[in-house]
Amino acid sequence: MSKLNKNAFPSIDLPFLYKNQPLSGNTINGLEETKKIPATQIFHGSGARELEWGKLELFFAMINPFKVYCLNLYNRWLLRNADGRIAKKQRAVSNTESMTDEIKLLAKELGAGAVGITGVTQDALYKGGKIEYKNAIVILYPMDHDEMRYVTQDRAGTETMRAYMEISKTAIGLSQKIRKMGWRARAYCEGADLLHIPLAINAGLGELGKHGSLISREFGSSMRIASVLTDLPLQHDSPIDIGVDDLCLGCRRCTIDCPVDAISDQKQTVRGVEKWYVDFDKCVPYFTEAVGCGICIEVCPWSKPGKGFSLSEKLLSKRQ
Ligand code: SF4
Ligand code: SF4
Repeated sequence: MSKLNKNAFPSIDLPFLYKNQPLSGNTINGLEETKKIPATQIFHGSGARELEWGKLELFFAMINPFKVYCLNLYNRWLLRNADGRIAKKQRAVSNTESMTDEIKLLAKELGAGAVGITGVTQDALYKGGKIEYKNAIVILYPMDHDEMRYVTQDRAGTETMRAYMEISKTAIGLSQKIRKMGWRARAYCEGADLLHIPLAINAGLGELGKHGSLISREFGSSMRIASVLTDLPLQHDSPIDIGVDDLCLGCRRCTIDCPVDAISDQKQTVRGVEKWYVDFDKCVPYFTEAVGCGICIEVCPWSKPGKGFSLSEKLLSKRQ
């Protein structure tokens, strides 16, 4: 594995954390790897300290504004209820269609902005992860676009953490209701050992954009994702085509606005799949140094409130 390009490393002095620089995140991510191999956790996860880039995440948490730090701590405290006791009496499910409707309605009542359901697949798990649940209920929660316009400033950081907290409450609340029905359910939220984006795509909530984030019709990329994994029998949604590639192939907004040129105009081969990919070694050091970024998702035309459905309609009819 190649060593990280020194110029790509943040200018902040981190001698106490990185006596040795970490391996290139792109290499760990499997950039240019033609075989289908599982993803390796690098930066974000429950055992963050042990990850190759984990110390940088620790540093990121330390330099966050006090308010964001407190919200983050509160969010972590909420997550103690992500899993728990399952009721002894199990509710029988004779009609998966009506159970699916009930669960989607419940998720919305608990605050979800959009909900989709899919099976749990290996591509949503990191290396060594085992499929322990049958289904994933994937939830989107929007961030306030007016606040997110202040990306890289404290205001946007606070809004991001608020959205994480709200989506945690929704996912945890939903998992608790399912456990009360006598079925296993576990909420996966911020920092979870799970790849939410492949699940969200399979659950029909959107497509991958050039900026490496999910694009949904409802909120563009200006949202957070959480998942509830469960054995409760549910019907699956299918992936959708909303015209993301039609726009991304011609649009360069995120490529131009990214301060460190981390976004490529070409799809790349990553772990055996050709897809949009963001240069980890450029994005993550900048993200840390700026105490959070996300310029790419906020400048994306899909993220303009109320724009997604009409934009998708226009792109799909133009294609025809
Ligand atoms: S800004 Fe443009 S190129 Fe970038 S993800 Fe959005 S639509 Fe695609
Ligand atoms: S988060 Fe910031 S640094 Fe990273 S790709 Fe987006 S705009 Fe570039």
